Amino acid sequence: MTKTPMPEQDPNVRNKNFKEVTLGYTAEMAINEAQRCMQCKKPKCVEGCPVNIRIPEFIAKVAEGDFAAAYEIITSTNALPALSGRVCPQETQCESKCVRGVKGEPVAIGRLERFVADWYRENVNAMPEKVPSNGIKVAVVGSGPSGLTCASELAKKGYEVSIFEALHTAGGVLVYGIPEFRLPKAIVANEVEKLKAQGVTVMTDMVIGKVLSIDELFEELGFKAVFVGSGAGLPMFMHIPGEALKGVCSANEYLTRINLMKAYKEEYDTPILHSKAAAIIGGGNVAMDAARCAKRMGAEKVYIVYRRGEAEMPARLEEQHHAKEEGIEFMTLTNPVEILGGEDGRVNGMKCIKMELGEPDESGRRRPVAIPGSEYVLDVDTVIMSIGTSPNPLIRTTTAGLEANKRGCLIVNEDTMQTTKDGVYAGGDAVTGAATVILAMGAGKKAAASIDEYIKAKA
Ligand code: FAD
Ligand code: SF4
Repeated sequence: MTKTPMPEQDPNVRNKNFKEVTLGYTAEMAINEAQRCMQCKKPKCVEGCPVNIRIPEFIAKVAEGDFAAAYEIITSTNALPALSGRVCPQETQCESKCVRGVKGEPVAIGRLERFVADWYRENVNAMPEKVPSNGIKVAVVGSGPSGLTCASELAKKGYEVSIFEALHTAGGVLVYGIPEFRLPKAIVANEVEKLKAQGVTVMTDMVIGKVLSIDELFEELGFKAVFVGSGAGLPMFMHIPGEALKGVCSANEYLTRINLMKAYKEEYDTPILHSKAAAIIGGGNVAMDAARCAKRMGAEKVYIVYRRGEAEMPARLEEQHHAKEEGIEFMTLTNPVEILGGEDGRVNGMKCIKMELGEPDESGRRRPVAIPGSEYVLDVDTVIMSIGTSPNPLIRTTTAGLEANKRGCLIVNEDTMQTTKDGVYAGGDAVTGAATVILAMGAGKKAAASIDEYIKAKA
């Protein structure tokens, strides 16, 4: 009735290191779990997967112990299974539809996907063959999951693909946001190496909109189409008093310093907030990651401060569970109203107000309402804002003809991912706002197919 458990590090050990929390299935565990699949004739799980992985087929191969065949089946629709097996919210996608879940726990589809991908990397790790070039150049802006997928799909069709990435390492949120203990960076690096083997050129430290414009990519460098997968990395703040104090930062900055700039490693000299007591504002995956990092960086007290209740938290249940096990305290129905500063200009407490849930708002969730007179001061020296992000305006403000909606997201034709500018396609968080890895991958794949049609139609 229940999933085969996956071994993981003890909470009191792992909250002091950055090694991966979950340790993955052994072959025996994977075969056991795969045997729970009932091989449904009309598999509901596949409908729940945004990229329609042929789930029962790959699970059947795992049950037979033919892991190489399982890998081939998964990668026929999903190029990055080691990533999605780790970070996809399976509980609201494939696993939420699995019939096994009606009277017990669903089949652990995500864990099996991860097992197959890890087995392949550790035992085969064949680099893909380079397809002969058709001589046509396509540019991809951003190396997150949407850009990596789009580049891979186009390279498979023979295009000469160049990725332009603003940061010094490729991978997008997979390297700068999601911590090592949830997604080891060696796995992302392996995927980037596979892309290079396919003939894709990856150029880092290339901020499009500053170093080169989109128009220059077309007119001076001869690219025939451009895919924009620049994500949604611009953090939002609450605009409450005290946000300019030392000791306040966005979760994106905090996580970038730790993950991309390796502040957790002794041999790196990355400046980072060393907190005794940190409050993370927000209840999403990003907030959980920031809280769990703060704990590992040595904070004695780490609070998640969230204005709604625990049932409304958008973070994956697994992340909430792991955070609690690691000693993070959840302060729900609580909202910050002011960050207090000491004479040294540093954070010295945060004034909060208690909330209750009122009528549902436009998102369908019950609206949090402040309880008058319930203010109190939480003793913290660090405040990390994690209340959402939006796309950086740089690309759209430096590209004539590229239109965005009022949230700053690029407008595309959803069937083709074509933007309002001829030859420019977009996908992932740059179009949807902050969403998920698998949706970004799906958008990159769809855009690659449209770019191929667009170029062929022009030829
Ligand atoms: P990104 O991954 O954001 O990549 C965009 C890339 O474009 C970046 O590398 C950026 O540097 C680059 N770029 C931006 N502007 C320019 C420019 N002008 N020129 C050149 N390059 C540029 N999703 C899940 O499914 N599961 C999770 O568990 C999960 N956890 C998350 C945890 C954190 C901390 C964060 C921040 C997000 C998380 N997400 C998770 C969301 C997920 O990571 C994103 O939805 C996904 O990465 C979006 O992919 P993307 O390709 O659109 O953009
Ligand atoms: Fe197997 Fe569940 Fe999919 Fe049925 S719904 S095929 S039991 S994974």
